Amino acid sequence: MSMVHEVVNPATEQVVRTVELATVEQTDEAIARASTAASGWRAVSPADRGLLLRRFSDLVGDHQEELARLEVENSGHTIGNARWEAGNVRDVLGYFSAAPERNFGRQIPVAGGIDVTFKEPLGVVGIIVPWNFPMPIAGWGFAPALAAGNTVVLKPAELTPLTAMRLGELALEAGLPDGVFTVVPGKGTVVGERFVTHPAVRKVCFTGSTAVGQQIMRGAADQVKRVTLELGGKSANIIFADSDLELAAAQAPYAVFDNAGQDCCARSRILVERSAYDTFMEHFETAVRGVVVTDPSEDAAQMGPLISAGQRETVRSFVENADEPVEVAFRGEAPEGAGYWYPATVVTPRSTNDRVWREEVFGPVVAVLPFDDEADAIEKANDTAYGLSGSIWTRDIGRALRVARGVEAGNLSVNSHSSVRYSTPFGGFKQSGLGRELGPDALDSFTDVKNVFIATE
Ligand code: NAD
Repeated sequence: MSMVHEVVNPATEQVVRTVELATVEQTDEAIARASTAASGWRAVSPADRGLLLRRFSDLVGDHQEELARLEVENSGHTIGNARWEAGNVRDVLGYFSAAPERNFGRQIPVAGGIDVTFKEPLGVVGIIVPWNFPMPIAGWGFAPALAAGNTVVLKPAELTPLTAMRLGELALEAGLPDGVFTVVPGKGTVVGERFVTHPAVRKVCFTGSTAVGQQIMRGAADQVKRVTLELGGKSANIIFADSDLELAAAQAPYAVFDNAGQDCCARSRILVERSAYDTFMEHFETAVRGVVVTDPSEDAAQMGPLISAGQRETVRSFVENADEPVEVAFRGEAPEGAGYWYPATVVTPRSTNDRVWREEVFGPVVAVLPFDDEADAIEKANDTAYGLSGSIWTRDIGRALRVARGVEAGNLSVNSHSSVRYSTPFGGFKQSGLGRELGPDALDSFTDVKNVFIATE
């Protein structure tokens, strides 16, 4: 029996489209097609595989505005962000289109012959995507997976399937053979779980919550299935008194309220050196009140609504919770009426034990606490099960490097909040994940190394 999902525009609460959700049988059919296509795809010459990915990249570029508009409608992303996201898929495909011809093995000196290694594709790769960045996270999985010679089945999140479905169509239009890249919209507990249990899927690339990631890792153990996990975060923005405080404060909102805080890299804990705390908070208040929260399809929009009513309730429970009241320092504006709006909110927890300091909110809420010295800053930053990203603001380059080495997180930025470049590795320490995506080594996680010895005597 098939089921449908009504895709809702989070800024208007109107139904945009109805999408059919795949059953287990339909998922099995998609996996079977991907499995059949695998031997042909790995046999395509490296140059031709690169050429097809380059064509796919160009087509995504030609459709950038259409994809961006679709994301605004489906996910409530600001049009500026959505254009960047579609452009990111284009660029990631462009970057990895050069990879098939550079997927080198090694020649290792041995006695009695020669020894070479090959990086063999795994077969079918299953990619499971969350709703917060539907396009980029899909692309970070499928582009290197395809470049390495795998075929891909991809499950978008229930709430946000539209851009992934369009990307699937563009892949066919670019000339990728049937079955090489298939988008399978459906439920996590149906399609996602089938990726984990189906023996033909040799790897699962999962981005989402830590709880589901743990479940996938447990399930993958049955078949010793490869996994890459990109999970939650509770990243710190560490601001030293010697930094450009005005600049640090002006940029801090965009490090946590971007995408309405629904960002695994959100710097949702701000740590400020005690002597600079008051000055920072003054500048920060001005900056937060300046964030433009409005109809995300307008060019001026800097923050849109949350993805769903449920997500707004979750976010609210961290702030307006009778059992554990938190002090709201100040807030930004949010539109009234239809749409899942929530204002940018700055809270000052009583201690590092408060729920809002410890748990991922995944909404526009940031908690601020002072610290005493460098050691205290590092200790507080590391006092979390997560370790995805973080920022360090200081003019002292030695301190910047000491703190960057001290913070247990995969992606740090100094005097900036930038965490993601397709040419550099991305991923988490501790419970923020396992493995790395993007960057020069991305194909390693979509291949197995084969060693071959050839006797010459
Ligand atoms: P989620 O874990 O609920 O869902 C993620 C995906 O997994 C969805 O496609 C969902 O359908 C699927 N899924 C759900 N249950 C499943 C199951 N039992 N088996 C297989 N698949 C299943 O997460 P979400 O609410 O969509 O996304 C928010 C979370 O994602 C946050 O915790 C955020 O930090 C994290 N995230 C991490 C990164 C990163 O790169 N580290 C990036 C974006 C989001």
